[in-house]
Amino acid sequence: MTSLAKNYRRRKISFKRGKGSFLYSSKGKKYLDFVQGIAVNSLGHSNPNLNKVLAKQSKNLWHVSNAFEIPEAEKLARKLTKKTFADKVIFQNSGLEATEAAIKVAKRYFYSIGQPQKNRILCIKGSFHGRSLATIFASSAKKMIEGFGPKIDGFDHFKFGDHKSLRKAITKRTAAIMVETILGEGGIKVIPNWCLKELRKICNQKKILLILDEVQCGVGRTGKFFAFDYAKIKPDIVPIAKGIGGGYPIGAVLMSKKVASGIVPGSHGSTFAGNPLAMSVGIEVIKIILEEGFLENVNKQSNYLWNGLKNIETKYEGVTEIRGAGLLLGIQTKMNNEKMSNKLIQKKLLCVPAADNIIRIAPPLIVTKKEIDKALQIIDLTFKENL
Ligand code: PLP
Repeated sequence: MTSLAKNYRRRKISFKRGKGSFLYSSKGKKYLDFVQGIAVNSLGHSNPNLNKVLAKQSKNLWHVSNAFEIPEAEKLARKLTKKTFADKVIFQNSGLEATEAAIKVAKRYFYSIGQPQKNRILCIKGSFHGRSLATIFASSAKKMIEGFGPKIDGFDHFKFGDHKSLRKAITKRTAAIMVETILGEGGIKVIPNWCLKELRKICNQKKILLILDEVQCGVGRTGKFFAFDYAKIKPDIVPIAKGIGGGYPIGAVLMSKKVASGIVPGSHGSTFAGNPLAMSVGIEVIKIILEEGFLENVNKQSNYLWNGLKNIETKYEGVTEIRGAGLLLGIQTKMNNEKMSNKLIQKKLLCVPAADNIIRIAPPLIVTKKEIDKALQIIDLTFKENL
């Protein structure tokens, strides 16, 4: 009998060791891990550089209050602002904290310029921005909000891909449009580049802010630092998390100078966020991801994986769609995704379901051609047996 509450349907596998793209179960079985904490371990398991940095920092200093300067946080923020659209950063500890902070930053900006009535956030119905009370109502998916009333106000919604309903939903009270550049939990639905450009244009016309949630798809996962980089646009606010910590819990909200002007001491904070231990790991992750050739290799491997999956798609009528970008991909088949995931896991390939009957795969950014070949072989064989 477990003492853990049942907020997850956990698989009956546990792991005692991980190395790169592989996990080793407590029963001694070796799994190819194409989940990686759901796009968290960007550099795979037990990365030697991260281990070294973590061990070194742990001997010096773990935690100090944000009431003092934290040079490690300064350094990571400087690295992020130097390489991106952002001028300012607030660190957090998780994705939901980052998205919730993004919402606060948007509201606070309009308050600070004397337009406090502009305080509503327009989101895609059924998107995923986290599990706090505010972010579940940002999604408004029935299964997420059920039992958690009263409703948290301040969110309006439009349907994915429905541009008419998006334009109609913008009112004088809208402060920002917030969308995931790639809807992860929602079933690896990629917002196309032309659409992101259009979103930017609409936000400019209406003088509202664009928040792009890159918690799952950001930090190199698509082969560029941000997924929206392909559209060559600049959002106003971007929450990130997952990949930036390489397995250590870090979140961050990145923002332009303009919107950061609304943030004053006391308007937002967190006890743990930006601590030296987390920041040291984050600095190393970003250093590695931004090293010359790293993202090019992500592109190379992801093209190889994509082509392999498309090849499998042509072989089986039961494969209905392959979608996604970079190393965040979704496979849809005629079989239930939970069942198919189980079959793949039985053959030692870890994957995780997402909405819309999607089997989601998110290998580490350091995945090799040989590991991709192994994964493709398992997928091919599993589909051959079941589709
Ligand atoms: N935003 C997006 C796009 C996500 O995919 C997730 C988590 O999967 C979150 C926010 C919430 O992140 P966390 O689970 O770290 O709170």
